[in-house]
Amino acid sequence: MKMKLYALNLVVFISLISTGYTFSYDGYKVYQVIPKTTDVAKLLKTFENNEHFDFWSDVRFLNIPVDIMVSPFAQHLFEAVMEKENIKYTTTVNNVEDIIVSRIEKNINAYLERLATDYPDIVKTEVIGRSFEGRNLTLIRISSGGSNKPTIFAEAAIHAREWIAPPVALYVINQLVENPENANMIQHVDWAIIPVLNPDGYEYTHTTLECFLSLITVGHSTDRQLFVFKSLTINCFRLVFWRKTRTPGSICDGVDANRNFDAVWNARGASIWQCDLTYAGFRVFSELETQAVRNYVLSHKQDIKLFLDIHSFGRWFLYPWAYTNDDVDNLDELRYLGQLFSDAIYSVNGTVYTVDSFASGLYYASGTSVDWVKKNGINLAYTIELPPGGSGFDPPPTSIQPVVEETWAGFKALHNYIQTNFVH
Ligand SMILES: [Zn+2]
Repeated sequence: MKMKLYALNLVVFISLISTGYTFSYDGYKVYQVIPKTTDVAKLLKTFENNEHFDFWSDVRFLNIPVDIMVSPFAQHLFEAVMEKENIKYTTTVNNVEDIIVSRIEKNINAYLERLATDYPDIVKTEVIGRSFEGRNLTLIRISSGGSNKPTIFAEAAIHAREWIAPPVALYVINQLVENPENANMIQHVDWAIIPVLNPDGYEYTHTTLECFLSLITVGHSTDRQLFVFKSLTINCFRLVFWRKTRTPGSICDGVDANRNFDAVWNARGASIWQCDLTYAGFRVFSELETQAVRNYVLSHKQDIKLFLDIHSFGRWFLYPWAYTNDDVDNLDELRYLGQLFSDAIYSVNGTVYTVDSFASGLYYASGTSVDWVKKNGINLAYTIELPPGGSGFDPPPTSIQPVVEETWAGFKALHNYIQTNFVH
């Protein structure tokens, strides 16, 4: 009897559950190579853009050690190449997972501490609180001395997935502290900057993969029978774009910290539902991160003349109010200074920012930090929405430099205004 056979004719993916899997550096090794010739340096550089190789130090000069973290999949290849080319290498870390405390502590806080050590006359770091998971909320204060000077306050990454925000804050810090050409910018004005306000979320968004548990059904039919195979599989496709804090909830985790301030809390543009992106928390200032900002701002509000909340993405420079479309009382000044910021940025790469109120430019939001500081008498308060990149929140490394440089020009314009109007 002739049997008709059909090809596999039915593949159904049903995504059942979206979940997060923590990425691990288990098995990753760090190798150290000392390039002694330009040929060796060139060879090392060929690994630089490969996802399996992470250079912890640059290949810049001969005879300076280069540390390279290599994924378990590429170690055999790396060792084989080194051996074939007769290049000596040592293994400095056998298992990277064992030494990782936290990306933020390792990179960002270590940089701030290094600045405090190298520039003790102008830099102080201050732990203004701890996150829910116990990470330091570190603020860096940059001041040439004296007291009660006009202060520019900036915070970044209250929303964890806005990956470009901390680099912008860190670039500002770097320019203020380490570039002598900018000495005038710390002469009469002080700076207080929190590069990562939501470190738990920031850590989570960099270590957790977004995965779907899928049911795969494969049907295989003959003219007599239908065979159906089912299996569960996990598909992971990218790091999770986590926005909120990591405070555990009964159903879903995390609070939108920028809906958690005491500024017409939990009204328009905020949610009472835990699982929503804009969940306002179970009460005003429920989050340790927002409490830390509240306490710092309240105890320094006589000096803070400008408050900047750094987000992405959108190319907007937004002033209060966020909770209503009503005009703020110092609208003209906010618009004028906003235009100075936007013009300065335009002059660098031609990036066009829109200056508007939060509610009219973006959307309604209640419980935001900008509205809260404005209500507390800090008249110049803005939300910066940095440009998008990649799929939005994840600009590729090549676009970081143009963004931080143009934003820095905007910061210079803001500083000029503060110096002109508040330094007597
Ligand atoms: Zn945001």
